[in-house]
Amino acid sequence: MLVTCDPCDARRWTESTTSNRRVAIVPTMGSLHEGHLSLVRRACALADEVVVSIFVNPTQFAPHEDLARYPRPIEDDLAMLEREGVAMVYSPSNDAIYPPGYSTFVEPPAVAEPLEGKLRPGHFRGVCTIVLKLFQTIPATVAVFGQKDFQQALVVQAMVRDLDIPIHIDVAPTIREPDGLAMSSRNRYLSTEQRARSLCLSRALDACSQLAQENERSLASLESAMLDQLRPGQPDGADHVDYAVVVDRRTLHPVQQSISWQASDLVALIAARLGSTRLIDNRLLHSPPMTL
Ligand code: AMP
Repeated sequence: MLVTCDPCDARRWTESTTSNRRVAIVPTMGSLHEGHLSLVRRACALADEVVVSIFVNPTQFAPHEDLARYPRPIEDDLAMLEREGVAMVYSPSNDAIYPPGYSTFVEPPAVAEPLEGKLRPGHFRGVCTIVLKLFQTIPATVAVFGQKDFQQALVVQAMVRDLDIPIHIDVAPTIREPDGLAMSSRNRYLSTEQRARSLCLSRALDACSQLAQENERSLASLESAMLDQLRPGQPDGADHVDYAVVVDRRTLHPVQQSISWQASDLVALIAARLGSTRLIDNRLLHSPPMTL
């Protein structure tokens, strides 16, 4: 496995990969878990060579966020990727990505505006910029992203479409702990007591999804079913709910209650805080099975 922090080496390696061999890239911020490895395995199935990038991208963190404390267990990460048969790990330094004088940023697409875009101003500008730079350095045919970061996947898909970037964006399912918590590098910040309360996110999505399958037509009821489980501010709930919404799965804008919609047009998304840890999760909703 080639490990490089140099963009020129990374590009040379990709370009030297013969044109009939497909290259897949899996962008990550490291601190890898089974969720990341599921993307790597999917990438292995979609391409001949898999490149994983590890870069904790400072431009997608706001000054008050967790950039400094974000875990960086690079040796463990490399050992896991070696075992998965990854061909190259690209792990650039901050200076290689943003050298002194760096000043060019991507203006994100419209789908970046609601939800995370509102709560984390500048986040998707940072995400789009680093992802475009990674795609330039590693001209892969496919990139694998996780549904766990649902809005991010939509943002990247819109960016590659709008900017004519010749890469397919594949979106892989969320991997969960056995009790339902979506795996995340940030879960390690949780105390035992917060870890127990964190299950309110997956419980809220279960409740919402169950109601949708029972053909509940009121969006307000779907959303309040989530809040009933999240119990913001209660001792057994989340400390704060940034949002718990049911929206159009393509635009992430609210759906008018008055127009006709299918549950399968909708996605439920949650961002909630436990102590200083912010967790996100989501679920695509499904209509009840058709009856004849
Ligand atoms: P991160 O390192 O958190 O930036 O995540 C890198 C990629 O892994 C992103 O595409 C995430 O959506 C994806 N990812 C993170 N957690 C999970 C998970 N639990 N299941 C599947 N994919 C995930």
